[in-house]
Amino acid sequence: MVISIIGAGAMGCRFGVAFAEAGAQVWLYDVWQEHVNQMNANGLVVEDGVGGERTLEVNAVSDISRMPVSDVVVIFTKSMYTMDAITKAVPIIGRDTAVLTLQNGLGNIEAIREATGNNPVIAGVTNYASDLLKPGRVELKGSGVTKMMALDEGARETAARLVGLLCAVGHNAILSDDVLIDIWEKVAFNAALNTTTAITGLTVGGVGSLSESRQLLFDISSEVVMVAKAEGINASESHVHGIIESVFDPEMSGDHKTSMLQDRILKRNTEIEAVCGRAVQIGKKHGLKTPKLECVYALVRVIECNYNKICL
Ligand code: NAD
Repeated sequence: MVISIIGAGAMGCRFGVAFAEAGAQVWLYDVWQEHVNQMNANGLVVEDGVGGERTLEVNAVSDISRMPVSDVVVIFTKSMYTMDAITKAVPIIGRDTAVLTLQNGLGNIEAIREATGNNPVIAGVTNYASDLLKPGRVELKGSGVTKMMALDEGARETAARLVGLLCAVGHNAILSDDVLIDIWEKVAFNAALNTTTAITGLTVGGVGSLSESRQLLFDISSEVVMVAKAEGINASESHVHGIIESVFDPEMSGDHKTSMLQDRILKRNTEIEAVCGRAVQIGKKHGLKTPKLECVYALVRVIECNYNKICL
């Protein structure tokens, strides 16, 4: 199976390594030339998070024309670059190529459909984590579960094969019964945790340390769940609240700096539109009020638009 990862950052490398170690022919595409050069010169160094490291030879490229038409194209950029990434990947997308997204946020599936037309799409979520420490070096973090589901009949077998490849290397992967619920519940979680950590500069445990701030997290996620329900997606408020409640413990993710907080620290664009903006818009379409979601959305936007003017 030929699998091409578009966006070979932290997660693209993590999944690229898993698929390669399970026997697939993997291609890693990225626009970051220094990272691509480093991987080609010295391999991709994988820190396993528990003190070990290994180096893999990889096919890393920054020129799509060097890549073969693939069985599966995996989009693993941040969500604001999905349209650009999938558009770039069109030359390696054949008639039967399946496109997989495990990215966070809303709108990735729609962008993939818009750019590819009739290609089968597989969507999913993962709570595995990783960091790209520097060019050519990735750190795998924690454990979790990856869920995916073919959104089109034509990709059912491919989705099952991808799950099989991941499981073969010890990655906990399963086929989802209803991936839109999984995606919206993760959006509800991220809309609460990512925004509040980015606004306050606190870790996950930090924003969960006061009953008032915990209530805010629950309220934001409840607004997203309400929007999901209006879209006909049966997301569960109590499920999302339970997950939020579980991550404050330092043994879980209490010390974690969310990706949006890391983006703020490094003054990078955030995934705010996919994680909040789109849910706000969909809520408006249904005539719903989402005041707390709109508030954190506006605050992250104003921070992101004014990185160089922050007085702290
Ligand atoms: P990342 O920034 O580490 O990697 C993204 C890569 O995409 C970068 O190397 C960047 O150079 C590249 N890129 C940007 N624009 C591109 C383009 N147009 N074409 C090709 N490559 C392009 O991001 P990440 O942390 O790997 O996150 C990827 C997605 O996975 C996000 O949606 C994120 O929310 C989600 N996610 C991340 C984690 C995590 O622990 N890192 C966990 C779960 C989900």
